[in-house]
Amino acid sequence: MTKKWESWNKNIVHNIEHIYYPTTEVELAEKVQHSKSIRVVGNGQSSSDIAAGTTAIISLEKYCAVTNVDRDQYKITIEAGSSLKGLLEAIQHEGWTLPALPDIDTITVGGALATATHGTGHDARILAQYMIACRFVNADGTVAEYTEFSEEFDAIRVSLGVLGIFSTVTFRCEPLWNLQLEERPMKDRDWLKSYLSMLDNHRFLRILWLPHTNYGYVITGDIADSPSKQIEIPWYVKYRRSLSAKLYRRTVKKPRFTVTANKIIQKLFFNHSQNKFGSLYDATVTKSRGSTLELAEWIVSLDRFEALFHDLKDALNDLSNDAYAHIPMDIRFLRNDKSWLSYAYGQDCVSIGCVSRIAEVADQYEAFAVIETVFRRHGGRPHWAKRHKMAGDEFSELYPKWNNFIALREKLDPSGKFLNAYLTKLLGL
Ligand SMILES: Cc1cc2nc3c(=O)[nH]c(=O)nc-3n(C[C@H](O)[C@H](O)[C@H](O)COP(=O)(O)OP(=O)(O)OC[C@H]3O[C@@H](n4cnc5c(N)ncnc54)[C@H](O)[C@@H]3O)c2cc1C
Repeated sequence: MTKKWESWNKNIVHNIEHIYYPTTEVELAEKVQHSKSIRVVGNGQSSSDIAAGTTAIISLEKYCAVTNVDRDQYKITIEAGSSLKGLLEAIQHEGWTLPALPDIDTITVGGALATATHGTGHDARILAQYMIACRFVNADGTVAEYTEFSEEFDAIRVSLGVLGIFSTVTFRCEPLWNLQLEERPMKDRDWLKSYLSMLDNHRFLRILWLPHTNYGYVITGDIADSPSKQIEIPWYVKYRRSLSAKLYRRTVKKPRFTVTANKIIQKLFFNHSQNKFGSLYDATVTKSRGSTLELAEWIVSLDRFEALFHDLKDALNDLSNDAYAHIPMDIRFLRNDKSWLSYAYGQDCVSIGCVSRIAEVADQYEAFAVIETVFRRHGGRPHWAKRHKMAGDEFSELYPKWNNFIALREKLDPSGKFLNAYLTKLLGL
């Protein structure tokens, strides 16, 4: 019987004939071995069509246990179907932390690794950089073991589910520390003058840019033993998401109303200072959202950020288009690494997110198209899990190891068992 698989915001829908829920590695490997075409899905929270799209799919939601904790070396091993929440609670329970975290904990460990999911900070890396070993189910159903010293490791860390399937994953953590976060509004011209010194001087830096208002909301964080005096925040701040959703509903018919909506939201909700104290997980990761949304995100090298930013601001303020962007647009910072398909491959970089708060009309949201044009001009790399139109050879100019990745995929999965239509086009096959 035909069933449906839907992404979390229902923008991607596929018919499926079989969905398997393995509970052991042996079951997982058997399903892969006996399928001609199969994909593994996480929690379906990607905006691009990289999860399902084959008639048989595997969900690892019942394969999510912690299998080993090495207390001497701060190492934890977990089955890849675990939510990030499951992983981070287990890590925190040990009195440990990972050094950088994304702003969401409902995604799976496998989904986060496969798409180079990342956080932000002075020395932040993509999550996959904190993985030090894994067991990996190959297309023929055999299981490979990799460590950070394996030749292939930098290829499989970020591999979009096309090289194989993460079975268990080991992360190296560090002893828990707490952050004192300070948040405040800053005019664009002011934070642009100081973001580099803030990046140097603070462990955590995130700028929620508020397009069409000339403001950003700057969040810095430093390791601290105890909280500083708490600042009172206005009582109505808790209504931000519900009021924003109401205002942005009106922008569907009148995109230009976004300018007014952003100014109202900025004045009410991003115009005060605030502070928070807690672990990186407790103080910076969003645990629940009242509604869905649709996302694009682009990454440029740190040294091109300012030129890009001015260009982006001009394009979004250009009255000849309808590119009005909902707020906030998330600006985050990453250190360079060597994972072949990491946004940070070979470059310290900056990511900028773009959000449509009304997911079902995301196709008409002109800001996505306009920011793509601007980022392309500046050598931007699109987030694998988010909206963009890049494909094939375009990536070989952006990723020095692109052709090596394509060749390795052909070697590991010659029959294309792990491909769907979207990935076939994305990889230029
Ligand atoms: C509200 C929201 C906030 C977000 N915040 C951030 C953020 O802070 N930083 C950031 O970088 N991104 C962020 N994202 C993007 C998000 O991290 C990715 O979309 C992530 O891949 C979603 O995980 P998932 O479990 O839903 O995976 P899915 O969307 O279901 O799958 C994503 C990919 O992972 C593959 N995959 C899943 N499991 C495995 C496995 N075991 N082995 C191999 N491949 C596997 C799938 O095949 C697919 O290719 C956010 C998205 C949303 C909706």
